[in-house]
Amino acid sequence: MAAITGPEIERLIQLLSKLPGLGPRSARRAVLQLIQKKETLLSPLAQAMADAVEKACICSTCGNADTQDPCTICRDRTRDPLTICVVEDVGDLWALERAGAHKGRYHVLGGVLSALDGVGPDDLNIGALIERVTKDSVKEVILAMNATVDGQTTAHYITDRLEGLDVSISRLAHGVPVGGELDYLDDGTLAAAMKSRRPF
Ligand code: ZN
Repeated sequence: MAAITGPEIERLIQLLSKLPGLGPRSARRAVLQLIQKKETLLSPLAQAMADAVEKACICSTCGNADTQDPCTICRDRTRDPLTICVVEDVGDLWALERAGAHKGRYHVLGGVLSALDGVGPDDLNIGALIERVTKDSVKEVILAMNATVDGQTTAHYITDRLEGLDVSISRLAHGVPVGGELDYLDDGTLAAAMKSRRPF
């Protein structure tokens, strides 16, 4: 297909279409919007991206994405350093923060164990977790893995690795979502909710 616009714009479309949730079609629409709002949108976006390129980093303690290392959460003295919530990736950490659900620290694994994808324990940030728990005398580890087979396999693996250390291990409850109607739930969720029922 012949190019309908200049190579600079084509390149922008091509790069944006690699973002999650944006296919070539939405990328085109986004780029058109950016060009039409060059002064108010494109220019500040370019500056924000340049700043991010310069400053973005990964926290060497917990794996969070930030512009400082240690990250904002690891530096926050009001947070409980003896409770660590273990998540698969930074997106999960940010989701828990948005919910205000956790007042301790985090540890980002960078994925889950997967025989199918050839991901083993050494590919994940698990050794550093064990080291943190030992060195900082952590009291509780909360395993906030996704409710997938690989997520749960990873949670079991970490539990095994933590065995013998003086730390309590918990995991997120699986069950009925807030506002959820039983009739619409899948069988797995309903069965998990029944299994983890609590006294009323
Ligand atoms: Zn951190």
